[in-house]
Amino acid sequence: MIEFDLKGPHSQAPARDRLVSALKENRFPQAVIIEGTKGIGKKKLALQLAQALCCTDPLKRPCGHCFGCKMAVDPGNVDCWVIPLETKEANAKSATEASLGSTSKTVEDYLKGYVSQIIENPYTVDYLSSIAQISVEQIRHMTSKFAMTGDRVHFVIVAEAERMNESAANAFLKTLEEVPPNTYFILTTASRERLLQTIRSRCLSLRLPSLLDSEVQEIVVNTTGESASPDALGMAMGAPGKAMFYALHESEHGSFALDFLKYSVQGNYSDLFFAMEGENLKDPDDACLLLNRVSFLISDVVRMMAGTPPRAPQVASALKELGIANWGATALQNALLEVDATTEKVVGRKNTPTVALQTLAIQLFEGYK
Ligand SMILES: [Zn+2]
Repeated sequence: MIEFDLKGPHSQAPARDRLVSALKENRFPQAVIIEGTKGIGKKKLALQLAQALCCTDPLKRPCGHCFGCKMAVDPGNVDCWVIPLETKEANAKSATEASLGSTSKTVEDYLKGYVSQIIENPYTVDYLSSIAQISVEQIRHMTSKFAMTGDRVHFVIVAEAERMNESAANAFLKTLEEVPPNTYFILTTASRERLLQTIRSRCLSLRLPSLLDSEVQEIVVNTTGESASPDALGMAMGAPGKAMFYALHESEHGSFALDFLKYSVQGNYSDLFFAMEGENLKDPDDACLLLNRVSFLISDVVRMMAGTPPRAPQVASALKELGIANWGATALQNALLEVDATTEKVVGRKNTPTVALQTLAIQLFEGYK
């Protein structure tokens, strides 16, 4: 009897147990959806599952050292991955098309870059641009490789599967309708609801819950060698990848988020816009980082009002001084919605980050001052 052992934090044991019992009973579904918020460990589990499926050890899988186990985590194995790409990346030549001696990057080069990043740190949250998507060509390329895999167990991890565009999703559905033997699909997604119902109904679905702060910290230390600050842990809300991200960007816009709120409350827009020029906010990712912090600070005030200790105590008193706690829960909930809407505008590139942030500053506490 082969023993299967998937490792991970205690809070996510029920999800892993479901996979293990399916593996044991030899009735493993050919497609699995792993759902959960950004940075929660979906790809970490996907990689372990891929190893367990490919492992050939007669006793315990994944063993970690057989050919199958090694192949599953080999960054060169780009055909086992479908990862959202930017248009420029998706339109690059393939390795077979690129002329010898050409220095321009091929699709495979881009993919290899992403796969290496994921394998090095599966919790990474900022490896993709916000406009990257999965195209129908990528799905077709993936299925074209099936014929070459022979009898060996083959897996494909479809990362951020909700980013399949419409034609990609339809092509993927066709693939799922006739999966070749010994082939397994592992989809990771932040939102199962954003996948086609017809795709969802063909997959075993698991949801990874948030982790305890102590579990997050353990993963952060094991992955990066350094521990995350209480602020970074608080903002991560149980997702190790987010904790690592915030820890890494701790100094960026950290104090500016508070300034942003201050100026906005005071209606001092000219000083705010001037200060914004000194911050690096032209890139959507940077603007989103600031928006995350602003949202975090406002929700900390909401927590204080409800009698819950704030997650960032040192800035909490500064927030109190602004007086926004006196405006009541509705004002703060509206402010949070306003920040969310702005984030969507920035991510969807509807406005330039600067314009979106300026508009937000003006509208944030409109009617409450
Ligand atoms: Zn193995």
